[in-house]
Amino acid sequence: MKPTRVLVLNSGSSSVKYQLIDMADKSRAAAGIVERIGEGAVADHREALRIVARELDGQGLGLESAELAAVGHRVVHGGTAFTEPTLVTDEVLETIRGLVPLAPLHNPANIAGLEVARSLRPDLPQVAVFDTAFHATMPEYAARYAIHTAVADKYGVRRYGFHGTSHAYVSRATARLLGKDPSEVNSVVLHLGNGASASAVAGGRCVETSMGLTPLEGLVMGTRSGDLDAGIVFHLTRVAGMSTDAVDSLLNRRSGLLGLCGDNDMREIGRRMAAGDAAAQLAFDVYTHRLRKYIGAYFAVLAAETGGTVDAVAFTAGVGENSAAVRQAALQGLGALGIEVDAVRNAVRDDSARLISTDGSRVAVAVVPTDEELEIAQQAYALVSSA
Ligand code: AMP
Repeated sequence: MKPTRVLVLNSGSSSVKYQLIDMADKSRAAAGIVERIGEGAVADHREALRIVARELDGQGLGLESAELAAVGHRVVHGGTAFTEPTLVTDEVLETIRGLVPLAPLHNPANIAGLEVARSLRPDLPQVAVFDTAFHATMPEYAARYAIHTAVADKYGVRRYGFHGTSHAYVSRATARLLGKDPSEVNSVVLHLGNGASASAVAGGRCVETSMGLTPLEGLVMGTRSGDLDAGIVFHLTRVAGMSTDAVDSLLNRRSGLLGLCGDNDMREIGRRMAAGDAAAQLAFDVYTHRLRKYIGAYFAVLAAETGGTVDAVAFTAGVGENSAAVRQAALQGLGALGIEVDAVRNAVRDDSARLISTDGSRVAVAVVPTDEELEIAQQAYALVSSA
């Protein structure tokens, strides 16, 4: 029988997450995480993947299994080189290595995962699925920054976008929820996790997204500022005397919700708001105001790109799936855009994809749990099945 299982590996800088998914019925045969890589017990990614292999072996599902069709790897940055899931060869690995300057924290860990998995099962197809790929369909005028073209081209400075696997999965799942083909649906997808990004998807194709050269641009996030005046960077280096690394750390790790109120977990912010905490309330208001700006902008972008209207706004990831308060506040007063949230439906807690708009709302509002692992498995399996 043809092998139907795909091992999905998400190798981060200090952890490796894995899921073994059977594409015959999309069931999870195994899942786990190896954490604290580089902190002693787990020396490096080679050791981490050995642990993954051992954990799978223990369940009789080892890497040696003949039932394995492929390994699907999450790779954060594909630059302009990779716009599709890609079978990993020496040449492909070399190109991904060349993209390390664009994602210095992420791509090296992804590469380590790829190298080790290849060495453990050289005969098995290894498929790289890129976080940037879904956004490659953005028109050039959306992908360009308005800076000198020669500088931009020489250093790869353009808008790539991230969370693409999630935006792809959620935009398709939203179309399914509406009983339509993705090609018939225009949607605004809001991936609100610790990292957060928005995308405008026209008939299944991404036409705009909020993250840029790096994941710093766009929405307010748990610890990242999102959009700001680039002049702030000069101000902080010249006037505050901060180093480049200090500004980088400030904007990526000590800003966003955390910087505004000292907490980056929306649950805690909700508790503090209920107790009348002004800083938590302001952080929430900055967060939801930014969301509204993007929703409005993407309604205009989708109207211009399609000549049609927006069919759905979809919320996903930790905050998007769980915070009724954020969804309510982000869409409050947007009746003029055809958006009406049903307060009762919004308050229901449920793990399945669902609609929270009123029956009369022109735009459907959806809550769609994201499943990046399944999306990676599907893309990897489709690639090896078509070969
Ligand atoms: P993610 O990056 O998708 O795992 O999302 C993580 C974030 O989701 C956390 O930092 C929380 O802010 C948020 N989150 C998780 N569960 C809840 C919840 N029940 N209510 C509100 N926010 C939540």
